[in-house]
Amino acid sequence: MSEVKQEQKQDEKQSLLQSSSWFEREVPSVKVPEENKNKPLFTEPTIECPECHALVTRTAMSFNSYVCPQCDEHLRMKARDRLNWFFDQVNQELGQEFSAGDPLTFVDSRPYPQRMEEAQQKTGETEALISMQGQVNGVPMIAVAFEFEFMGGSMGTVVGDRFVQAAELALKFKQPMICFAASGGARMQEGMLSLMQMARTSAAIERLHNASIPYIVVMTNPVYGGVTASLAMLGDVHLAEPKAMIGFAGKRVIEQTVREKLDEPFQRAEYLLEHGAIDQIVHRHALRDTIYRIVSKLMNLP
Ligand SMILES: [Zn+2]
Repeated sequence: MSEVKQEQKQDEKQSLLQSSSWFEREVPSVKVPEENKNKPLFTEPTIECPECHALVTRTAMSFNSYVCPQCDEHLRMKARDRLNWFFDQVNQELGQEFSAGDPLTFVDSRPYPQRMEEAQQKTGETEALISMQGQVNGVPMIAVAFEFEFMGGSMGTVVGDRFVQAAELALKFKQPMICFAASGGARMQEGMLSLMQMARTSAAIERLHNASIPYIVVMTNPVYGGVTASLAMLGDVHLAEPKAMIGFAGKRVIEQTVREKLDEPFQRAEYLLEHGAIDQIVHRHALRDTIYRIVSKLMNLP
């Protein structure tokens, strides 16, 4: 019996060897879905560049100050990231004590307090303006940054409160104030109280001017409405990031009003520079040094 079995086994082996060698044998391939064929695989979260659609890991993007390494597009930075990036050292965060009420008990598709809660959950911030005091190359400064993801960076009473408080501290300690603007304008849910922030912030900036304290505005994409019409256009120096959209009313509204088609560079930083509305367009990588140099010059620092 055992001999018969051995013979059978040898026959099977022979037939296998004859039929195909191992490198000719077909192996079922791993199936890659058609839509994933051209995409690189990442093991960590990625960000897609809105301009060139390159996929870049979040870490690489953050190391490059959220500027696309492929096409140099300046992506939007969160306000907190922006201030932590700007300062070498943050001494304190300001204005945490202010909180918004619901003065008009405003309801559109949802009540205002509900919208606020959603924005807070989405961004992890309490309001649309973050204010910090810190140092850049050893020079103490106060800087505020708008969080655009928080209800479009809209200016309500708390944004006004935080801005005015920052300006008053800048005045008190004679430290320059920097504003990174990114806003859709006034917050309609707070009605008239929101519009009043335009006058309040303008008055605070006027006090800085009178005391010769530098106030520098950096316009990031986008700056519109009541913010353009007040604090964003009252700086001693107006800087802008490349391709930032800056205006009062949006393109569509103007086109409907004047009944004309407006060309693409309209309201871009480059167009505004050409027409004298801003002083300089600065690449994000050069922004810190540019601000430091301007401040040093204006304050006669050694
Ligand atoms: Zn890109």
